[in-house]
Amino acid sequence: MSLLDKPIRKKRIVVLGAGFAGLTFCRRFRSEFAEIILIDRQNHHLFQPLLYQVATAGLSMPEISRPIRSILSRRKNVTVLMDEVTGIDAENKQVILKAQKEPLAFDYLVIGLGAQNDYFGHPEWEAHAPGLKSLDDAIRIRQNLLLAFEQAEITEDPETQRRLLTIAVIGGGPTGVELAGACAELARVILRRDFRRIDPEKTKIILIEAGDRILSAFDPELSAEAEKQLRRLGVNILKNEPVQSISKEQVVLKDLTIQAGTILWGAGVRGNPLAAKLGIELDSKGRIPVRADCSLNQHRNIFAVGDIATLKDGLGQPVPTVSPAAMQMANHVARIIRDEIECRTQITHNRPSFVYNNKGSMATIGRAAAIAQMGRLKLKGYSAWLAWLFVHLIFLIGFRNKAFVLLQWAWSYFTYGSGSRVISGMDRTFRIKPFAVNPASRVDELAQMENQNTGSGI
Ligand SMILES: Cc1cc2nc3c(=O)[nH]c(=O)nc-3n(C[C@H](O)[C@H](O)[C@H](O)COP(=O)(O)OP(=O)(O)OC[C@H]3O[C@@H](n4cnc5c(N)ncnc54)[C@H](O)[C@@H]3O)c2cc1C
Repeated sequence: MSLLDKPIRKKRIVVLGAGFAGLTFCRRFRSEFAEIILIDRQNHHLFQPLLYQVATAGLSMPEISRPIRSILSRRKNVTVLMDEVTGIDAENKQVILKAQKEPLAFDYLVIGLGAQNDYFGHPEWEAHAPGLKSLDDAIRIRQNLLLAFEQAEITEDPETQRRLLTIAVIGGGPTGVELAGACAELARVILRRDFRRIDPEKTKIILIEAGDRILSAFDPELSAEAEKQLRRLGVNILKNEPVQSISKEQVVLKDLTIQAGTILWGAGVRGNPLAAKLGIELDSKGRIPVRADCSLNQHRNIFAVGDIATLKDGLGQPVPTVSPAAMQMANHVARIIRDEIECRTQITHNRPSFVYNNKGSMATIGRAAAIAQMGRLKLKGYSAWLAWLFVHLIFLIGFRNKAFVLLQWAWSYFTYGSGSRVISGMDRTFRIKPFAVNPASRVDELAQMENQNTGSGI
């Protein structure tokens, strides 16, 4: 066999995580000289910005998620493995997977494993105050919320009823604000006429923020506007109130203890714990510091993109942990790797720096209520909400989801419809014990059952 006949070994690019970053990389990277292996522990890509709608019964799971395989089915050079990454051996260029005996070797590695909730050194709080990061989290929260109303209806003890009809949301960032607003609408608008022994409109929703204003990443004028819109929805806002401790149905603040049937956590995130397996120094939020080209200092062929990475871009601006940044970083890395594999640039050359194109930020508060900041342009209320709706629909993957979500929203907007308020698995798990029942004790089991029932259909 002559040298020319010898097949060229394709470079292997292993991509960890099929979130916004990993998926964008796989969709954008095109070169016949490479094969991609994409690994995710879930079988679906999740549109996290709309998770709060699933958690508060506005949308159902398939409307914000899609199987990774079906998104990438036409990309013949991409192999999808549903497996959990348990280790990264950077020195030997290998990834360790839970279900595979042999480590997986790579020429290039793209780490897009995202972030997880940060409980500021109090992991024990998570059991009482679930955060919102996955579909499982959203289902757990939804079951908890809906069961609290059901149990308030059957209890005869006014104290228990008051507790069940109190929702505490911790963290005044975009996730906390969205959750508080959506909970207020669920209680005061959607469930308003559905109960006979309780008045859902009397539900107390408390948003707790440690700093002196909510949505602190926005212009102060817009965060004041968001506060006004939330108060209009009936949300109580407590500022300068760092949480001291959380236990079962109880949040302790400096001078106040709140009894709440539902406690939700939206106060912070940190990098995926797998980042620690790289054996390099991480930032204070557990994220991987990368150079301006998104590669690791010590390992030129390993890149970190999206929420797991921390960097200042080519203009010296810190890159925020939002989905457009994750997608733009993935696009940038796809170009770098393609150019190197196809010898369009010399591997020894300095790589181009990533520059974040900030198109603005927005946060939704409720129906027709939002704020948006795009450069000098500031939008409030209905116009901001329409902008938010438009942007989120554009980003939703696949026409089917877009059409469904739009129809669902239009339907609930005009009819205050029932959304996705079905609680499943009651035959096996629901025991009516009016005074002793704690919804949180059953939600894991219920969530598992819902996943069994509907998860495979996602
Ligand atoms: C509730 C909520 C609301 C948000 N709202 C907005 C918004 O309005 N606008 C906005 O721009 N951004 C928003 N964000 C942030 C945005 O979702 C993130 O910036 C974006 O998802 C980051 O993309 P990523 O690819 O880095 O990580 P992710 O999208 O988190 O993807 C990480 C992937 O890695 C997989 N994974 C993790 N660990 C493992 C493992 N050990 N093995 C295998 N696979 C693993 C996960 O299953 C997941 O698919 C929101 C986030 C949340 C949680």
